[in-house]
Amino acid sequence: MLKENLIEVEQKIEEACKRAGRRREEVTLIAVSKTKPVSMLEEVYDCGIRNFGENKVQELVDKFSKLPSDINWHMIGHLQRNKVKAVIDKAALIHSVDSVRLAEAIEQEAAKRGLDVDVLIEVNVAEEDSKFGLKVEDVLPMIETIATFPHVHIKGLMTIAPFVENPEENRTVFAQLRKLSVDIAGKNIDNVSVGILSMGMTNDFEIAIEEGATIVRVGTAIFGERNYQI
Ligand SMILES: *Cc1c(COP(=O)(O)O)cnc(C)c1O
Repeated sequence: MLKENLIEVEQKIEEACKRAGRRREEVTLIAVSKTKPVSMLEEVYDCGIRNFGENKVQELVDKFSKLPSDINWHMIGHLQRNKVKAVIDKAALIHSVDSVRLAEAIEQEAAKRGLDVDVLIEVNVAEEDSKFGLKVEDVLPMIETIATFPHVHIKGLMTIAPFVENPEENRTVFAQLRKLSVDIAGKNIDNVSVGILSMGMTNDFEIAIEEGATIVRVGTAIFGERNYQI
């Protein structure tokens, strides 16, 4: 069953790439497995998926210990500074850096352990009160500060678009994030690359790809609806 879901998602990714004149290899699919049991992740792993996204540190750490070591784990949820220690050596990419203080905590722990940590800056493009992330105008100053941290490496930007009925409504959100990344790339800041654009979820990943996403984070379309009661 999950295999069919994956095939469908894969087809939609390919079609969106084609519409946008992009190569399929430019887009990485992250299977967002939060709340889902290890058995379901194994099923998806057996279909060839090697990128998984979790939004809670404890859940990521648990699943990390139970699944094969060739998986790239993505921390996509809000990260508290006191949880940095637990996740820093397990996440291949932290998508949710939204403050200098958090980046400082990552830098300190990474320096202590001799690690290099790749991060994305989370941008609240639509300025929704309910979401984490920086306002667009605050992104560049923060990136300039974090760029001076020797063990933290900015690789791009991430956004969570609003929940909308018609995914077309989010096209401008994705276009804005892409424009911001182009502006930042033009600054040529040492230790900063903005090649990664992590945007698009089940409802809007095709639009996000058309607007330049290099990572899409897809949960429901692969694993089915989440049940938060369990
Ligand atoms: C849950 C989640 C997703 C996946 O959402 P779906 O709508 O189920 O695809 C993507 N990104 C983040 C940050 C999430 O928390």
